[in-house]
Amino acid sequence: MRSKHDSNEKHGTGMESRREVWTARVVTLFPEAFPGTLGCSIIGKALSDGIWSLEVVDLRESGIGRHKDVDDAPAGGGAGMVIRPDVIGAALDGFETEGSRLPIFCLSARGVPFTQSTAENWANSRGVTLLCGRFEGIDQRVLDHYGIEEISAGDYVLSGGEIAAQALIEATVRLIPRVLGNRDSAASDSFSADGLLEYPQYTRPRVWRGRSVPDVLVSGHHGRVASWRREQSEKLTKARRPDLWKAYVEGCGDRVEN
Ligand code: SAH
Repeated sequence: MRSKHDSNEKHGTGMESRREVWTARVVTLFPEAFPGTLGCSIIGKALSDGIWSLEVVDLRESGIGRHKDVDDAPAGGGAGMVIRPDVIGAALDGFETEGSRLPIFCLSARGVPFTQSTAENWANSRGVTLLCGRFEGIDQRVLDHYGIEEISAGDYVLSGGEIAAQALIEATVRLIPRVLGNRDSAASDSFSADGLLEYPQYTRPRVWRGRSVPDVLVSGHHGRVASWRREQSEKLTKARRPDLWKAYVEGCGDRVEN
């Protein structure tokens, strides 16, 4: 028997609605890491309101023998351990019998980088199953057998996929309609629409430790505010992200013609 922790049960949402909402299904050796940050703030509120659903599957339950072993030494030698294909296969096959298979992605430092446009694609789908690795990773045959795509949270190495999974889920869920309070707040975020990083933000007090909010932002002149923000976005993008800047400059040519 597979043990499934469904956080919606904790939050009191029925099984029926679970099928209809965007679902993140996470397979992990550390179910206690969830919902983690996904239970906080706007994302957590949307979870308890049943706007999206989180199902956490404890991989240990599919472990082998009395000790529920999940890993073994790497074929060919070397340091560390590798998660066994039969253990993951047993966990994943549980979903098929429910007739609700979602596309499966494996968190992996060597995966294709996750970007804002991946988040947009995921937010427009029914949901995803995310497989969190540990140790040296997962037996390659599992990835081949299920056609699993490896996806990375960035060019650094974590000890497990759990934090990465939470980051990817959070980036996706905040794009689901009704999750963010202000409909426009995702549109001006970095990487959205115009492909620029976001401009600097200020709030009260008007002067703090001798530093003032830029005059233009309190001028009440919407046109000037908009062009100041664009200038700042361009300046930051050019300085910090030459890759995004290049794409933006090339794209500007197209926009002018259109
Ligand atoms: N030997 C692997 C790293 C294993 S780290 C390599 O060199 O690529 C253990 C697990 O942490 C991985 O299986 C993966 O699930 C997760 N992980 C580590 N870094 C990650 C990253 N940048 N993005 C997503 N998942 C990551």
